[in-house]
Amino acid sequence: MVSEYQIRVAPHVAASEQALRQYVAEEYGFDVRTLTALRILRRSIDARQRTIYVNLKVRAYINEMPREDEYQRTEYPDVSKSPQVVVVGAGPGGLFAALRLIELGLRPIVVERGKDVHERKKDLARIGKTQQVDPESNYCFGEGGAGAYSDGKLYTRSKKRGSVEKILNVFCQHGASTRILADTHPHIGTDKLPRVIENMRQTIVGCGGEVHFQTRMTRLLTEGNRVVGIETVSQQPSSVVQQPSSVVQQPSSVREQTFLGPVILATGHSARDVYRYLSASGVELEAKGIAVGVRLEHPAELIDQIQYHSRQGRGRYLPAAEYSFVTQVEGRGVYSFCMCPGGFVIPAATGPEQIVVNGMSPSGRGGQWSNSGMVVELRAEDVEGDDALRVLRFQEQLERDCWLAGNHRQTAPAQRMADFVNGRLSYDLPRSSYAPGLISSPLHFWMPQSISHRLQEGFRQFGRQSHGFLTNEALMIGVETRTSSPVRILRDPSSLMHVRLEGLFPCGEGAGYAGGIVSAGIDGERCADQCAAYLRQ
Ligand SMILES: Cc1cc2nc3c(=O)[nH]c(=O)nc-3n(C[C@H](O)[C@H](O)[C@H](O)COP(=O)(O)OP(=O)(O)OC[C@H]3O[C@@H](n4cnc5c(N)ncnc54)[C@H](O)[C@@H]3O)c2cc1C
Repeated sequence: MVSEYQIRVAPHVAASEQALRQYVAEEYGFDVRTLTALRILRRSIDARQRTIYVNLKVRAYINEMPREDEYQRTEYPDVSKSPQVVVVGAGPGGLFAALRLIELGLRPIVVERGKDVHERKKDLARIGKTQQVDPESNYCFGEGGAGAYSDGKLYTRSKKRGSVEKILNVFCQHGASTRILADTHPHIGTDKLPRVIENMRQTIVGCGGEVHFQTRMTRLLTEGNRVVGIETVSQQPSSVVQQPSSVVQQPSSVREQTFLGPVILATGHSARDVYRYLSASGVELEAKGIAVGVRLEHPAELIDQIQYHSRQGRGRYLPAAEYSFVTQVEGRGVYSFCMCPGGFVIPAATGPEQIVVNGMSPSGRGGQWSNSGMVVELRAEDVEGDDALRVLRFQEQLERDCWLAGNHRQTAPAQRMADFVNGRLSYDLPRSSYAPGLISSPLHFWMPQSISHRLQEGFRQFGRQSHGFLTNEALMIGVETRTSSPVRILRDPSSLMHVRLEGLFPCGEGAGYAGGIVSAGIDGERCADQCAAYLRQ
C-alpha cells in the first residue's frame, strides 16, 4: 500500500529518518517494520511562532517498494547528425536551451566567452589576491554563467509549476540532491553547482553537441533580416570540448571563427559589449528598470536568533535562517533580494574600474554571516535620457563611483547599518566575509540620494518590523547593481523571435525575460522549443 500524509513535526524528528518513520507509523497506526520506504515530497519550516515546526508531505510505502524514480528522467538522443543551432552563453539560459534542443533532436553548438567551470574558479580566487578582475572569466562570465558560483537558490516567482519541476528534475538528473524537489526554498549551494554544470556539459557533448570555451561572439551574421550565424574570436589557449572528457587544446593565438545556424542569444545581464554592439547595429532594444542598493551582512547567529525567536539561535536541527523584507518608500519598492544565509559576499564585477557585490552560499550554509541584497527599485523613467542604454550607463556610473570610493581596487566601501541610517561615517568596521577587503566610507553621502534616502527609510521600517535587525553589528557593502538586466532585447511574445530579425532568439536574463536560475532555465527551454518550430517551417 502507498499512502501520502501531511504532517507537522518538531525539527529533531524531521532531521532523523528513523524518528520520522517511527512518528508516521505511530501516528497512522501501522507497524514500523512494514514501512519499506518513506519519501519526503514537500518540506517547509514554520517559524512564525516560538515553537518551530517542520511541515512535511510524505509518501509511505507499506509492504511494497517504490516503483518510480525519485526524479523524472529526460531522454537525450544522439544528435550528432542533426541540424545545428548556435547557443551563445553557457549560463542557465544557454545550458537549458542546449539540453532542450537535444531533446527535440537538434544539435546545439554552445559558444561561451569564459572558461570551463573549474578553470574559472582559479580566476575567482585571484580577485581577492591581486585585486584584478579578468574581463572574460569572473563571477558572471564562464561556464554556468552567473548561476555557477552563486547560491543556487532555485525558487522563482514563475507560476508554471510544470516548467519549474522540469528544471529541478533536470538538475537532479545531473547530480543535484533530490531534496530540491521537496524543499519550499530549494538551493544547491556553490560547492555543489560546478559538478552539476559539468555533468550538463557532458550530456551536451556526449549527445553530439559542441561546447566552445573562451570563444566570444563578436557579431551576428545576417542575410537581409535573417540571422544565419555568428562570428567569434577565441582567446587562446582555447578548449573545444567535443566528446566527454576529450579536450582539444588549440595552438596559442587569437582565432576568428564562424558558426552557422539560428541563434539563441543567452549572454546574461553583464555582457555590456553585446548590448553596445546590438544598439550600434540598430537591433531593437529598450531600457529596462532594475534595482540597486547594497549587500547587507549580519552575523548569521543574530539572524537565527531573530528569525527563530530564541537566544539559542538555530540549534542543532534547523538551517541558517532566512528573511525577506519588502516595503514602499516614496513610490518605489525597497526590498531584500537574493538572501544567502550562512554565505559570503563576493566581488561580482566584470571589468576594470567597477565594484559590484553579490552573494553566494555553500550547500551547508554554515558560514558565520548571512547576507542579502538590499535594493531600491529603479524604473527606466527615473534615469535621464531616452535611449535604450541609459539604465546601463547609470549602473556603470554607480559601479565606477564605488570603485573610486574603494580606493581604485576591489576593496569595497562599507558602512555600519545604524551609522548609515543616522548619516554617520563608521569609525571602524566589523569583520566580514568579503575577501578583497573593505574600506569605511559614507555610503549615505555619495550614493544617489534617490537610493540612499529610500534605503535609510526602508531600514528604519525593517528595524521596527523585526527587533534587532537594524543594528551597527550589520554591515552594508557597496554596491549591488546587477539585480537584473538594464536592457530588454525586443522579441515577439509568441514566436520568442526578435521583433525584426528572423532566426534570433533573445533568451534569459540578459534579454530581459528572466531573473534567476530557474526562470532563465525555463526561458532557455521555451526558446529552444520556438527555435525548433522555426526550423520545422
Ligand atoms: C553571485 C551571484 C549569485 C546569484 N545567486 C542566485 C541564486 O541563488 N538564485 C538565482 O535564481 N539566481 C541567482 N543569481 C542570478 C542568476 O545567476 C542569473 O539570473 C542567471 O544566471 C541568468 O542566467 P542567463 O543564462 O540568462 O545568464 P548568465 O548566467 O549571465 O549567463 C550568460 C553567459 O553568457 C556568456 N557570454 C556573455 N557574452 C558572451 C559573448 N559575447 N560570447 C559568448 N558568451 C558570452 C557569459 O560568459 C555567461 O556565461 C546570482 C547571480 C550572481 C552573480
